[in-house]
Amino acid sequence: MSLEEYKGVFIFAQQVDNELSSIALELLGKAKSLAEDLDEKKVTAVLLGSDVKGLVDKLAEYGADRVIVVDDPALKDYRTEPYTHALASVIDEFKPEILLVGATAIGRDLGPRVSSRVHTGLTADCTSLDIGDFPLEPSPVRETKHKQLLMTRPAFGGNTIATIACPDFRPQMATVRPGVMQKIDPIKGAKAEVVEFNPGFEENDCYTEILKIVKEASSVADIQAAKILVSGGRGVGSAENFKILDDLAEALGGTVSCSRAVVDSGWKPKDLQVGQTGKTVRPQLYFAIGISGAIQHVAGMEESDIIIAINKDENAPIFDVADYGVVGDLNKIVPALTKKIKEA
Ligand code: FAD
Repeated sequence: MSLEEYKGVFIFAQQVDNELSSIALELLGKAKSLAEDLDEKKVTAVLLGSDVKGLVDKLAEYGADRVIVVDDPALKDYRTEPYTHALASVIDEFKPEILLVGATAIGRDLGPRVSSRVHTGLTADCTSLDIGDFPLEPSPVRETKHKQLLMTRPAFGGNTIATIACPDFRPQMATVRPGVMQKIDPIKGAKAEVVEFNPGFEENDCYTEILKIVKEASSVADIQAAKILVSGGRGVGSAENFKILDDLAEALGGTVSCSRAVVDSGWKPKDLQVGQTGKTVRPQLYFAIGISGAIQHVAGMEESDIIIAINKDENAPIFDVADYGVVGDLNKIVPALTKKIKEA
């Protein structure tokens, strides 16, 4: 493998039912900044599906300079084998230096298969990506430093943060947590170069058959899409007492989320959990109410624009990341705040 042949930053543009997943747009935002750091001109999105060409313009608006489209009925709904065949064939043909995939259910299935198929490494579930010199420290094995993709992720159950590089193989592949990277502001009317590519699909590439797709009936709010989150922790005291947070969220037009202690207590479903083993959120306003601010919680919310903490313990670590803090009993402060907001 000659590493020099591999050029450009590519992202897998995940779509489901012909709708782009938010992660595709987030990855484009990150790919743009990585491409600049590498002095690359183009960011390429790889779009797989059936009848998906209508999605190209949206990818262009969010930063794709080129879209490689593999449009084939075999790719209508996600199946491991045809998607692996298609994405691995795109890599063989176009030789990306970097390929980013969302750490979604689809990406977590597809990414490792593809990396194994093309004989490269993959760093799973990254929370940060940078271009930097490798090795990080002087090394007797590698005398010269080279610019590499430095892929950072929590390891050993969140007890350490590991930065991983893939210096000897290409592409450098990572799956990236949804909600961590920022989309660019869309550029209305932007256009991308479109390259149609079809590797052809044989029976062997499609040996599973989808009999039926049953959609999950979820009444739970999407906390990653919310602009205002009212998040409660163990300090709220009980499932019933979350009513005071529901009222505050309603008054603000926000959504309720929670810490892991709340999920572990059975007060709220796991879909509402913020943090390292929950969801990463980036709302405009994040209330941390009765939440101590453990590192695993903070990892999921510290990028929020404004953080307001309410806690009776003035030494709670949540105040280290909060923009505004109120020390006191949440049972008094939250209803008073809701009342004031309703009156305003
Ligand atoms: P506590 O730490 O018990 O804090 C409760 C807070 O409420 C205290 O600060 C207290 O002063 C305050 N309080 C109590 N009563 C009141 C009152 N009346 N008024 C005002 N304040 C009051 N945690 C997550 O949240 N998300 C994760 O994704 C996550 N992943 C993890 C992964 C691993 C591998 C591990 C080991 C842990 C993880 N945790 C996660 C758990 C984390 O370490 C903490 O245990 C958890 O975040 C604590 O939740 P809490 O802040 O709600 O509860």
